Amino acid sequence: MNVLVTGGAGYIGSVTTELLLDAGHRVTIFDNLGRGHREAVDPRATFIEGDLCDRDAIFTALHDMRPDAVMHFAAFALVGESMEHPQMYFQNNVVGALNLADAMIAAGTPKIVFSSTCATYGQPDVVPITEQEKQLPQNPYGESKLMFEKMLDWYRQIHGIQPVFLRYFNACGATARYGEDHDPETHLIPLVLRVALGQGPAIKIFGDDYDTPDGTCIRDYIHIVDLAAAHICALEKDVVGSFNLGTGQGHSVLEVIAACRRITGHPIPAEVVARRPGDPARLIASPEKAASVLGWRAQHADIAVIVESAWRWHQEHPQGYHA
Ligand code: UDP
Repeated sequence: MNVLVTGGAGYIGSVTTELLLDAGHRVTIFDNLGRGHREAVDPRATFIEGDLCDRDAIFTALHDMRPDAVMHFAAFALVGESMEHPQMYFQNNVVGALNLADAMIAAGTPKIVFSSTCATYGQPDVVPITEQEKQLPQNPYGESKLMFEKMLDWYRQIHGIQPVFLRYFNACGATARYGEDHDPETHLIPLVLRVALGQGPAIKIFGDDYDTPDGTCIRDYIHIVDLAAAHICALEKDVVGSFNLGTGQGHSVLEVIAACRRITGHPIPAEVVARRPGDPARLIASPEKAASVLGWRAQHADIAVIVESAWRWHQEHPQGYHA
């Protein structure tokens, strides 16, 4: 298929592009390189440097290439930043995304696979979280993603487009070529591995008084290659609707740090600090709908396998892409 990937120079977009190309699809990347990296653009893809907030640019791109489908990754994705600068999130993640949806209608592109998030659920009542859980985001980031889900659902009913919402849990790990390089970095695994690389004195643990067995927060860490594979299932299957992408297993912050110590051989000092505002104690996906409808299950769910892949990438790119 002929696929337009927005945000293909970012972390999840770059790995999904790599797998799409490996599977024989044709890919055009549309990315403004604001947070993505030129070095993460797969050389086999066509690259358009453009911004979704530039309505003409995305209309022209879709008009010219007439893709069979869009995969939409381009977005801001930092919870803390969204609490300080909500306007940035509504502008980019909602207004920019609306331009994309309108350009799809104009070009007759039927399908969109949208990078959504478990942050649309907020503080869930029960885990594992199913797609039926109520969506009550606790920050502008989650709200912006939910708003675009709802807009796309109306476009489905009115214009007949086919949206798939993939609600990611904690994306992590790397391929041999592409990995995680955010600035600023806020995610647990890359921050722990920075300590192992000698780039920080200790990892800060954000609270050990949660209602969990060891007191630290539990998350469902999902390998980036598994996430990318789910996008290809969503593209190739005749499906619409929402799917949680996780392993169904949770790991605490202390368990992740222990896995990093085992794999790196570094003692990785840790210190407990105050809770980070807005962190739910436990977020674990129910992967059952994705399994039954998409035919997808995580193949690399072992936290050691995930950390090993990330560690290899960070050792080869100790300063990220711009080394
Ligand atoms: N975390 C931590 N120290 C850090 C970064 C993260 O203790 O320096 C914890 C955070 O409180 C959460 C978990 O690690 O419970 C995963 O956080 P991350 O930011 O990677 O992903 P999130 O679950 O917030 O999307």
